[in-house]
Amino acid sequence: MTNSINLLKPAYQHIANILDGKYDSEALTSQTIKNLHLQESKLNAYITILDDYAHQRAEIVQKQFQQKTKLLLGGIPIAVKDMLALKNFPTTAGSKILENFIPTFNSTVVEKLENAGAIIIGKTSCDEFAMGSSNEFSFKGPVHNPWDLDSVPGGSSGGSAATVAARGVSLSIGTDTGGSIRQPAAFNGIFGLKPTYGRVSRFGVVAFASSLEQVGPMAHNVHDLALLLRVIAGHDEQDSTTLNIEVPEYDKFLDQGIEGLKIAIPKNIYKGMNADMKKNMQTSLEIFKRNGAIVDEDIDFPSWESALPAYYLIATSEASTNLARYDGFRYGYNASEYKELWKQLENTRGIGFGQEVKRRILLGTYALSAGYHDQYYKKALRLRTLIKSDFDNAFKKYDVIVTPTTPSSAFKIGERVSKPLEMYMSDYYTLPANIAGNPAISVPCGFINNLPVGLQIIGRNLEEQRLLQIAALHESESSWSREVPNL
Ligand code: GLN
Repeated sequence: MTNSINLLKPAYQHIANILDGKYDSEALTSQTIKNLHLQESKLNAYITILDDYAHQRAEIVQKQFQQKTKLLLGGIPIAVKDMLALKNFPTTAGSKILENFIPTFNSTVVEKLENAGAIIIGKTSCDEFAMGSSNEFSFKGPVHNPWDLDSVPGGSSGGSAATVAARGVSLSIGTDTGGSIRQPAAFNGIFGLKPTYGRVSRFGVVAFASSLEQVGPMAHNVHDLALLLRVIAGHDEQDSTTLNIEVPEYDKFLDQGIEGLKIAIPKNIYKGMNADMKKNMQTSLEIFKRNGAIVDEDIDFPSWESALPAYYLIATSEASTNLARYDGFRYGYNASEYKELWKQLENTRGIGFGQEVKRRILLGTYALSAGYHDQYYKKALRLRTLIKSDFDNAFKKYDVIVTPTTPSSAFKIGERVSKPLEMYMSDYYTLPANIAGNPAISVPCGFINNLPVGLQIIGRNLEEQRLLQIAALHESESSWSREVPNL
């Protein structure tokens, strides 16, 4: 057994090496954990690193190997966003109010990962209740971008993105309600995919805005991303919104090419687009054209501009009801020093929730309240219908819609904390796919100011495989995703 495994390798190569007996899952796990602790002093990407648990799991997986059990992710360390329940370990959602919450059950995605032989090595930091675009709203403090420690990693799945970019792990899990997988993937130079609504179970995932969010994979190469999606996707009796449709072997057939692919770009998104971003996008479009795609940069998508206001009404409204359950009696933190019931409740939520979460609860409660419900919430639902129909129209003629993932590269820590509207603008390109429910992927497409940026590809419902094939072609024709930050 060797002591120095090359941690830069993709997960699928580790899997092959473990099967060949070059090293075992124990050795890979030990080395990964050692390395993670070293990186943590710079990144702060984790809320919990599961040293002992990971070792126990590695031993179990090793035994399964001896019994020749077939495991798609056998022995591979993976980081999971702290929004997903892991039995017997803290699941905090990045919030003080859940700091001491220990679930008694696994989320379905965690269950599927472990059944596939993955080793959950840690729970990654995120913006509190996944509300944010910078990972500065975690009770554990900000996560740092491995490409520039003074910059944000994006959010809310910033920890999951930063640890993969730094090659702490090859795989991680994020959640995406309005861009929280794709935006941090772009800011860190890795791949991230938000699946079609209903493709992946949300059972055991801390709820923020239930009609918008999906759990999804993050990785530094497309093969790993596809493999991870294959493991976590599928119908779940515990989540009635999951689709009962067979899961493709996403990791196969990645090299099908894109001959004849019809790509559309909504013309209104060019308005005010950063010049460097436009240049990067053009370079990617050239790659696609060279490989036989047809690009139309002039399609009408009038509702694109409405996605941001619609999102911040729908998401906050759903959040205000989803977060009503945190009263100090059922879950987590309780301000028990206050003896009177109302005072206790008031202080549990007053002390337990951070500022951004409170802002959203207030906004959502207002939007849903009698007298304003029609004016705000219902109007937002009408916009949702319009956005959906613009997507449906576009997909009658085109296979995918392409945009940048974000308006800019990563911004500095502290720059937007007190400017919520600027922070919200980070999601300008990503929100529409959540509102309509379509799958979307972010692929590394270059650098601006030495920081990575991403290209977003949105597909028809359940056409994740096509997105992965396009991403694979882009990956093989460019080298951006193979650059690794110097930590
Ligand atoms: N940044 C968006 C928000 O703050 C999206 C968050 C997410 O996708 N979880 O709501």
